[in-house]
Amino acid sequence: AHLESYGRLRDVRVTVLCGGIGGARFLLGLRTLGHDVTAVANTGDDLTVLGLRISPDVDSIVYTLGGGISTERGWGREGETFRVRDELTAYAESVAAASALVPSWFGLGDLDLATHLIRSRWLADGVALSTATRWLCERWRTGVTVIPATDDSVETHVHLNDATTVHFQEWWVRFRAQVPATHFEVRGAAAATPAPGVLEAIAEADVVLFAPSNPVVSIGVILEVPAIADAVRSTSAPVVGLSPIIGGAAVRGMADACLSAIGVSTSAEAVARHYGCRRDGGLIDGWLVDDVDEAAVGVLREAGISCRAVPLLMHDVDATAAMARAALDLALGGARD
Ligand code: GDP
Ligand code: CA
Repeated sequence: AHLESYGRLRDVRVTVLCGGIGGARFLLGLRTLGHDVTAVANTGDDLTVLGLRISPDVDSIVYTLGGGISTERGWGREGETFRVRDELTAYAESVAAASALVPSWFGLGDLDLATHLIRSRWLADGVALSTATRWLCERWRTGVTVIPATDDSVETHVHLNDATTVHFQEWWVRFRAQVPATHFEVRGAAAATPAPGVLEAIAEADVVLFAPSNPVVSIGVILEVPAIADAVRSTSAPVVGLSPIIGGAAVRGMADACLSAIGVSTSAEAVARHYGCRRDGGLIDGWLVDDVDEAAVGVLREAGISCRAVPLLMHDVDATAAMARAALDLALGGARD
C-alpha cells in the first residue's frame, strides 16, 4: 500500500523482526506512535535449564514492554534476587550429580523463574510457544503482539575454533563471545515453520522493520526459517532496517564477534549490504544509519537501498520514537529525502 502520510492513518500495521534488548527498546519507542505493532521475536537463544524452557529474547521484549525489565542490567527483572541460583550453586559445588545440571554462568533470577516455570508447564501440556507467549503478554500488557518466530525448536549453536560446539547462550554469557566463532549453526531452522500469525503479519503489513538488533544471531536467525525469509522477500510492504552498528561498533553487546564470524565487517554499510537490496533478491528496501555514518548514505543509495542518516541512539523513549518515525517515513515516503 502506498500511504502518502502515515501519520494521519490510524491503523498502520507495522511488523518488526527483533532480538532481545535492542529489539525491546526499539518496540518501546515504536509503541508510543500508536500503530498496530507485531513483533516477530528471535528464538535462537532459547535453552533448557533444569528442565525449564527459557526464551531470553521473548522475555526481554515482554518485560521491557511491561515495565518489568531491570533498566540497569538491560535483561531480567527489576528488583531481582538470586537466592534460588545461589542454592543451586551450593548443590553444584557439593554434589557431582548436580554440577553438570547447573550452569553457573546463567542468570536465573527468582522472579524470572516464575516466568520459566509457568511457560514450561504450558509447553509440557502441549501449548505452543506462541500461545504461551501470548499469555505472558496478557500478564505484562505489552500493547504489542509478540510472536516467537517459530513454535518449533530452533537453537543457535556456536562452532568454536577449537572444533567444539557450545549453545549460543554459553558462548555469549559465559565466554562473552571472546572465543572466536567459526560458524553459527541454527539447529532446527531449516525444517522449522513460522509460528501462526508470522507470515500474515509480514504479508499483510504496511511496513516491515528490522529492529536495530544483532544482524547475525537475532535477525539472521529469524531469517533462517526459510518461509520467513521468503515472506520478507515477497511482501508488498516496504522493508526498512535500522542499523545496530554506529561508527563501526556495536552500541552494546558483541555483534562485532558475530559479524566477523560470517565475514561481514562491523559497519552500518556492510550490514546493509549483507541484508541486500530486495530488488536484487535481498531483504531490505531501506536502511537507516546514524548521523556519524552519513558517508554510507550515498553509496547505499547507489546500491539501490534507500537510505538516510538520523540519530540512532536509543537513550530514551522519545529518541527511540523519533527513530521509529524516521523508519516509517523512509518506508512510506514521508517528507524528507
Ligand atoms: P539481544 O538479543 O539482547 O542481544 O538484543 P538485540 O539483538 O535485539 O540487539 C542487540 C543489538 O542492539 C546490538 O548489536 C547493539 O549494537 C544494538 N543496540 C543496542 N542499543 C542500541 C541503540 O541505542 N541504537 C542502535 N542503533 N543500536 C543499539
Ligand atoms: Ca538475543
